[in-house]
Amino acid sequence: MTGTVWFVGAGPGDPELMTLKGRDLIARAGAILYAGSLVSEAATRWAPDNCDICDSKGMTLEEITAWLIERAHRHSTVIRLQTGDPGLYGALIEMIQPLDAASIPVEVVPGVSSAFASAAVAQETLTLPEVTQTVIISRVEGRTPMPPGESLAALARHHCTLCLYLSITLLKKIRLELLAAGWKDDSPILVVHKATWPGEERVIRGTLATIRQQCIDAGVNSQAMIIASPTLGARHQGELKKSKLYDAHFSHRFRKASNGNTTRLTSNTYEDSTHE
Ligand code: SAH
Repeated sequence: MTGTVWFVGAGPGDPELMTLKGRDLIARAGAILYAGSLVSEAATRWAPDNCDICDSKGMTLEEITAWLIERAHRHSTVIRLQTGDPGLYGALIEMIQPLDAASIPVEVVPGVSSAFASAAVAQETLTLPEVTQTVIISRVEGRTPMPPGESLAALARHHCTLCLYLSITLLKKIRLELLAAGWKDDSPILVVHKATWPGEERVIRGTLATIRQQCIDAGVNSQAMIIASPTLGARHQGELKKSKLYDAHFSHRFRKASNGNTTRLTSNTYEDSTHE
């Protein structure tokens, strides 16, 4: 027999943030290979008693794919459980290629990525009308080189929201690159450590100038999301440009404007329904 290997996003930490699809797959899995301690909880909470569950900590990529291939020859449902969303910094393609070569069918189930969990925990928005409508997900060059054109200084020139993964030990470099791109030392920065992990989550708010020392003082040097955005703190800044979505003077697909006005929706907060 040949089973299917499912790459399932486990979400950021709280097992309840896994999708129902992921949970249902776990409940019928013959074998689960999980990455990291938080993911193990979700696996053991819902997996059947006789499920073959293994931690990939300490395994090489070759050992991981060999494990998945071997189990796929014995079980119809094999799960590779990954943190957050499998498509972000998850070595997804490196694992899929050997499965393709072994003719093992593969499926991917998305998960709540830590950038979204971190924004939710801090009750912040990543987009705000006429402030920024763009989010860049990236990391800063440390031991892993960045492709040409993707230096933080280049990306930060957009002055949009930046969600930086895998970079909490690089805050000195982040400050220099953001300053080079025209950000100010008093720009607000949010760091969330272990977002949604029960009892372990920490939210640190600072500025470009202060955030590094705040993280050092708090002992935060891993598993943290850095969000730099002109949207941070908007909640406390009084009058905002309102989203057109709830504006009484705008019609959209599901509501006619209260004044009978049929002005076409110009904001992209709501999807336009006619092509330009
Ligand atoms: N696929 C994952 C990312 C894996 S890379 C996702 O979609 O979230 C690991 C990095 O993700 C960490 O260095 C950290 O920047 C971030 N991260 C993962 N879980 C996190 C959490 N619960 N809280 C904050 N950051 C987290």
